[in-house]
Amino acid sequence: MSAMRHLLDLCKRRGFLFQSAEIHGGLRGAYDYGPLGVELKRNVSQEWWNSMVYQRSDVVGIDTAIITPPAVLKTSGHVDQFTDEMVDSRLSKDRFRPDKAPELKVDDQGRIPITAPDKYMAKLWENEIRTQFARGALITRKGKEILLSVERLEKDRIILKEDPTSSPIEESTLRIPYHGYVDPNSNSPFLTESRPFNLMFKTYLDPIDPTDKIITTTLEAQKSSSDLTTTRQLVDKTLYPSLTYLRPETAQGVFINYMTVQRSHPHLKIPFGIAQIGKSFRNEIRLEHAIFRTPEFEQMELEFFVAPWQAQDQFTAWRKSRMDWWKIYARNHDRIRERAHAEDELAHYSKGCIDVEYLFPWGWGEVEGIANRGDFDLSRHSEATGIKLQYTDAILMQERQAKEKATGEKETRVEVLEKERFTPHVVESSCGLNRAMLAFMLDALEVVDEQGRVVPLDEVNETNTNNSSKGIRIIMKLHPRLAPVKVAVMPLISNNKDLVDVCTSISNRLRQELQVNVALETQSTTIGKRYYRMDEIGTPWCVTVDYDTLKDQTVTIRDRDTGAQRRVSSEEVLKIVQDGMKL
Ligand code: ATP
Repeated sequence: MSAMRHLLDLCKRRGFLFQSAEIHGGLRGAYDYGPLGVELKRNVSQEWWNSMVYQRSDVVGIDTAIITPPAVLKTSGHVDQFTDEMVDSRLSKDRFRPDKAPELKVDDQGRIPITAPDKYMAKLWENEIRTQFARGALITRKGKEILLSVERLEKDRIILKEDPTSSPIEESTLRIPYHGYVDPNSNSPFLTESRPFNLMFKTYLDPIDPTDKIITTTLEAQKSSSDLTTTRQLVDKTLYPSLTYLRPETAQGVFINYMTVQRSHPHLKIPFGIAQIGKSFRNEIRLEHAIFRTPEFEQMELEFFVAPWQAQDQFTAWRKSRMDWWKIYARNHDRIRERAHAEDELAHYSKGCIDVEYLFPWGWGEVEGIANRGDFDLSRHSEATGIKLQYTDAILMQERQAKEKATGEKETRVEVLEKERFTPHVVESSCGLNRAMLAFMLDALEVVDEQGRVVPLDEVNETNTNNSSKGIRIIMKLHPRLAPVKVAVMPLISNNKDLVDVCTSISNRLRQELQVNVALETQSTTIGKRYYRMDEIGTPWCVTVDYDTLKDQTVTIRDRDTGAQRRVSSEEVLKIVQDGMKL
């Protein structure tokens, strides 16, 4: 069982993450965060906000609208350039040969190799499968749908793998019911050359259903026998007045507010930043690895406005600062790296860009992008609106004016005036909240045997991680500041009223004084099982109240990572938790 399956199993069982609308069959790519997931996500975003805003005097926050008018995204380049490549497939049903559908055997690692007649067909099948698999279940086994995705392409073989969010696959024979077999002697099943497909979700601010408008306009166009292109243009024109987009990134909300923030906060002197955390939406063709790539996700973005001559140094400084941040919360520093973009990966305006990558079970994946964007953003919005989005250094201006007054000579040197008023450059840090959460959970996951020895995840099978006090168990070694529950307070004997009363008062005190999430764990299982349940969800400390507590007010505090227990007073509990939460 893979690390990802271990994690997703735990997430569902313990209430971190659920498939959205599960009781209605679910929606692929949509996830709901359960009681523990929401805490973890909030903690990750709070740590980001703390480091980006509260710990600095030069960054302020903002929260801008998700629904965005086309003018903003036309100006930013998203309407024309925010695209993926797509091909139209003409694999219509009559071109399928379901009678010849190959029988697919799942190998012992839960993978399904399909051998295509040749390399060319393998590539075509891969494209087709990738497109179809991105959207939903494809294979049925014993009446049950199983989601598969393409793991990799090998010469003439496509290796499919089970999507970890679906039910487990056993050794069995599967049949692709819809795709069937593509006749290798047929021509290419693709009609079209690849063409760009815009990733933005459109929506219409209009009480009239856009479908009605489309039908009316199309029927009108047909009367004058318009061709497809003309009809499309007419439909676009009719819908345009109410067209809006769900923002594909939070950054544009910051750029269009550059002036409003500056005016309302005149103390902000360059360099300064505006931070935002919020939802973004992308109609991703490939949805993969649970919350790693979803159509709806959250971003934590900082736009740092700098003078042109500061940009390169600030870019370097932010790279370091962001890598330092990641290393505070991730235990395995060898699983985090920077990857600089090659020249041909950079946008034309970009002066440098790196990805922060985490080594996920399927390989390195981007969790954050840091870019030196030049003055592209503010210049574009200035040009489009005619509003100058510039920065004026009031002190330099006053000094120049005083000098001009004293000498009677007007300053005309461009290099002097440019220092006084300029279009700021932007250094951006753009981090995915859901991806960060996934990376931190995977990073924290540890499986140990009865003796507490770490067991490599691949050696663990499904049956022996059942959160039992015997055998193998999971410890989620999350940084205390990220842990969804900070302290669990539990009575040694769960149904003893005196002990429960003391637990209630200790947990209330911890809540009030430390303002943290505390669990009162009174389940009637053994104390060992209760500790293990808390280890599994990453709770750094367990406090146990027993009969001695009634006499001397001392409790036992247990450390998640070492399992070590200490007898301390309830005062000391507060201090241990407080100290352990320090950065
Ligand atoms: P990718 O190449 O993986 O699609 P990207 O380069 O398009 O990512 P950016 O536009 O740089 O991503 O967005 C910044 C961050 O937002 C990414 O580093 C990632 O953490 C997050 N992100 C982007 N798209 C998604 C998505 N569909 N689902 C979840 N997180 C996302």
